[in-house]
This record gives sequence, structure tokens and C-alpha cells, in this order.
Amino acid sequence: MVNSTKEIISPSYTSIDWKKIREDFPILKREVNNQPLVYLDNAATSQKPQLVINAIAHYYSYYNANVHRGVHTLSQEGTNAFEASRNTIKEFINASKTEEVIFTKGTTNSINLLAYSWGRKFVKEGDEIMISAMEHHSNIVPWQILCEEKKALLKVIPINEKGELIWEEFLRLLSDKTKLISVVHISNALGTINPVKAIIEEAHRRNIWVHIDGAQAAPHLQIDVQELDCDFYSFSGHKMCGPTGTGIFYGKEKWLEEMPPFEGGGEMIKTVSFEKTTYNDLPFKFEAGTPHIEGAIVLAEAIRYLQSIGLSNISTRENELVHQTTTRLKEMDGIRFIGTAIHKSSVVSFLVNNIHPYDMGMILDKMGIAVRTGHHCTQPLMDFYRIPGTVRASFSFYNNENDIDRLMEGVKKSIQMLS
Ligand code: PLP
Repeated sequence: MVNSTKEIISPSYTSIDWKKIREDFPILKREVNNQPLVYLDNAATSQKPQLVINAIAHYYSYYNANVHRGVHTLSQEGTNAFEASRNTIKEFINASKTEEVIFTKGTTNSINLLAYSWGRKFVKEGDEIMISAMEHHSNIVPWQILCEEKKALLKVIPINEKGELIWEEFLRLLSDKTKLISVVHISNALGTINPVKAIIEEAHRRNIWVHIDGAQAAPHLQIDVQELDCDFYSFSGHKMCGPTGTGIFYGKEKWLEEMPPFEGGGEMIKTVSFEKTTYNDLPFKFEAGTPHIEGAIVLAEAIRYLQSIGLSNISTRENELVHQTTTRLKEMDGIRFIGTAIHKSSVVSFLVNNIHPYDMGMILDKMGIAVRTGHHCTQPLMDFYRIPGTVRASFSFYNNENDIDRLMEGVKKSIQMLS
């Protein structure tokens, strides 16, 4: 059942039947408020194809058992599938070893692992951690907690009105006290694609560690951690057609070896006595307790599904949908786009006249259209724009032109009702 990801050859863009792909997602056939569902909240979580839903049922119907513990057949089959999934993910992000791939609950959990384990070992009083003005709360709060505890300083790379990092300011903020730069690859609120490779190069020239929050990048771009040369990379399974409660923390082996465990318990130990405990080898040192076994196995299934379409085909499709949506919204009066970076992906955030995003979200929902309204867990970013939040339409490859038509109808109706 487990194929090597390298065997998957993506089809050419023109040969892809997007209508057929959409049929893989049963939830898209349901109605909401007596209207066919239009799902444009993919940055929050993606929908799941039938093959992923089936894989969950298959796991529990066929080989559910705890992993790494039993000599019995079910446990061995479960362990083999679990470790094969780790290998699929290793190949997906082009890590050099499976030991560098740690299963977590999601991006938030991955960043907390980094802040608690790496942070407690390497950060000292007076050190600096650098993030950016467009971070999700998950990439702000763990660093604030660490900095408070260690009396370290949190520095923030500013952005311009378009929602792009200001490169000169980034260079100016670097100092010989900077220990780590932790930046988002693609902003969930703006869609900005950050120049992470250039950031990593600048940082490494100064021996600074770099962590990339890839929560919004892994579903849309082909990630190659060796090519990026990042020290750490985090992402969530549920945003890329996989189950909720799954995520990955990638770290270079040499750093993971030096980092202490994050949580203690079963699985992460070699020997335990009341006097002394010795820790397990990588990756298990960071995987205390029974993992999300089914989630990890099925995440590999989701990844193979994305690869069968091709990540570059996916991003081309999503860019088309974003382009069409932006062009059509521009034709309406009173639209203000939040996030107009030159390099953008999958997200259209906007406001209309003086309409509160929440009110528009409610009207759209009545019409069966799911968008996200509010601060998108980026309150400091909303403060920068002096707004309470935005209406965010976030796209996946299974969205289509009809979804855009329906969104336009919904926005027009909201303007009529609320302006
Ligand atoms: N970082 C970014 C950029 C996100 O968009 C999100 C979720 O929306 C997160 C981190 C947190 O991800 P999770 O809730 O899966 O841990």
C-alpha cells in the first residue's frame, strides 16, 4: 500500500481534469443554508478527498494497534505504515534523513517544540529572536514566552503597505546578538510569499539559525528543505488534505541531536530508572507518548494525492483563481485589498467601504459561501493596517470559476444590504 513518492510523475497542467478532481471531495456536494456549498476557507483548513477519508476507515478496520511496542502482527503492520509515512514526508520535503522528520500535532505544536527545546538550551539573557510583522500568533506567542523567561529581546521585521518585508530594515535589525530568525513562508492573512531563501542566506552568513513557518506554503508550493538550507521547518497536515491533529517539525539532524527533549514519557526514552533516564534516538526523542498513528499514516496518503496532481499544477491553478477573483473584485467600487505583494499565493483579503468583515461573512454564509472574517490570528498585522480584520477568500485547487461567480454575487448582495 505504501509507494515511494519518487514514483509519482505529475501530469502536465493542460491534461488535468479539474472538474473530476473536485468530485474527489464529497463535502463539496453538500448544501449550506439551502445553497450548494462554496468553500473558500482553505487557509484555515482544507477539505479531504474520499481517498483520505477511506484511508482513515481502512486503518481502524484493518490494522489499528499501538506502534513501536508490540511483537504482534497488527503492531508491526501499524509500525511499518507509520514509518513508511515518515519516509514519504522525508521525500516530500527532501529532508536528508527520516530522523529529521518529527510528527507533531501541527505547526503550533512544532513551533512550541522549537521554542521550548532549542530555546531553553541556546537562548541566553540579552539574545535576540527575530520574527516579522505578518506572523500568525503561533509564531509570535511561543517566542514571547521564551524571551520573557530568558530576558531576551523579540525583534520584528517591519512590512510596507503592500504587505512585503522591508529588506533594508531586516538587514538593519540583524545584530551579533540575533540567535534565531523565525518567519512565515506564506502569510495566511495577506498571501505574501516571503523571500525565505535570501533570508536564510543572510542569516547563515552570520551564524544565525532560521526557522520557517510553512503552514501555508506546504499545501501550495514544492518545499525542498535542503535547497532552502533552513535549520527548521514546520507545517500542518490538515491544511494539505490530511487529517486534523497532524503536523511536521523538520530540523537538521545536527541541531536535533543537540536539542533536549520537549516532552517526557513513553517512546522518547531508552532506559528509565528513578536515578536517571536516557533518551531515545531521533526522531523518537521528540515523540513522547502514543502518536497520532492514523493521522500520520493518512497524511502520507494525502501527500501522494497532492503529488499525483503535482504541486506546480496546484499552484498554477490556485494562482489563476486568485488572479480572476482579484480582477473581478477590482471592478467593484469601494474594495480595499489588504495584501498586494508582488509575490502572492492563494489568498485574497479585502474590505468593502465601511462594512464590517463579520457582517459580510454572515451574509455570505446565508448564501452558502464559507469565507473567513476577522483578524486571522494576526492581530499585530491588523493593528498595522488599523483595521479590525478582513474578509478572506482562500483558495485550493478544487475551487472553480463557479465559486468565484458565487462569491461575486455574495459581495454585491452584501454591499446592497449593508452599505
Ligand atoms: N502559521 C500559519 C501561517 C498559519 O496559517 C497557521 C494556521 O492557520 C498556523 C501557523 C497554525 O497552524 P495550526 O493551527 O495547524 O497549528
